[in-house]
Amino acid sequence: MTWPANTTPKHLLESDAAAGFEITDDFARFDQMNDMFTRAMWDDKVRNKDTDAFFASYRMEAAPRRGEGFGQRDFALRNAAWLISDIISNRSADTGLREGFQGAIVNDTPVAPTKADLGTPHDEAREIKRLARFFGADLCGITHIDPRWHYSQRPDTKTMKPVPNDLPDGLTHVIVMGHEMDKTLVDTYPSALAGAATGREYSHEAAIVMQLAAYIRNLGFQAIASMNDTALVIPYAIKAGLGEYGRNQMVLTPEFGPRVRFSKIFTDMPLDVDRVHELGLTRYCHNCTICADACPPKALPKGPPRVGSNSPSTVKGVKKWSANCEACFGYWAKIKTDCAICMRVCPFNHHHRGTVWYWLATSRWRYVAQWWAKRSTPARLKPSMWWGSR
Ligand code: SF4
Ligand code: SF4
Repeated sequence: MTWPANTTPKHLLESDAAAGFEITDDFARFDQMNDMFTRAMWDDKVRNKDTDAFFASYRMEAAPRRGEGFGQRDFALRNAAWLISDIISNRSADTGLREGFQGAIVNDTPVAPTKADLGTPHDEAREIKRLARFFGADLCGITHIDPRWHYSQRPDTKTMKPVPNDLPDGLTHVIVMGHEMDKTLVDTYPSALAGAATGREYSHEAAIVMQLAAYIRNLGFQAIASMNDTALVIPYAIKAGLGEYGRNQMVLTPEFGPRVRFSKIFTDMPLDVDRVHELGLTRYCHNCTICADACPPKALPKGPPRVGSNSPSTVKGVKKWSANCEACFGYWAKIKTDCAICMRVCPFNHHHRGTVWYWLATSRWRYVAQWWAKRSTPARLKPSMWWGSR
């Protein structure tokens, strides 16, 4: 038997079952050199003039064009929304570290030499969630650390060569926070304007995750602030009880559907973990293909979840819906901005916990919800209307 089944602690295997994870014996930790954004910097099979222009457009080299939502004002707002995130991710560029994306966020404050008197793990978990909201997070859950989801290596962004992806010893828990994206902007996908919804949350989450991590360090415990770096956040968000996996490769949350980004903190603070229980969102996806039907390059699968794919950008040994990452990112590069049509059209983006539709969708009446959703997917909001509505 190969890793991880022979080395994975029992409590993680038990929560795998509760979360619906099916992991096969050919599982291997994901190498961050193979994520699409990293490959677009070193892999000639991915990198081309469009991908270079895509990255350049996030600086001052945006090339506005006639299409609605792709004008100078749209790119200007998108790039301004990314500003704080960019400042953090660029501040260690000289050392080959792109903080928050290809390397964890460097601690700005030390760990206090004395540990604070803590309450019970239950009380401290409740307090951490309260403070996550105080700093601006919309969702927060806690789970055990699980090295299976940590990148086997990360790129040095100066040399684009692999380097170790290490964390300090002794970390035990992961605090996962969710950050709601602006619905009106998401309604305009695909457009450069819509990318402001993504950028604004990265800028928000950079501040929130760094502040909460600083609080924990001030109490005398380790706290590594992390955004997309260091580990796959999707399995962590699911294990922290924040949502379920969707066909569109996103975490579907009861509160915002897929319209949410996640950040995380690795810590050794003793905290109660959240339990995973079935919500019925993944089950709904088995009989829905709205996102796959709407995807311009047809990058999303319409069939059942499968293990692996031919692409190095798909994690090995996990049964799940996997996109054709090359086709998806190729479309992003073509339009010079991120696409999230599959987020916009998802019915869980429009109907949340507490609505009749959600109740139907997560019950045995989900076929009624599917019939309803097919007939009521809202049309894209014209970017000119978004500007006009302000
Ligand atoms: S982001 Fe766009 S291109 Fe990529 S899978 Fe979703 S709809 Fe398709
Ligand atoms: S559009 Fe349908 S299949 Fe796609 S993620 Fe949403 S509910 Fe699941």
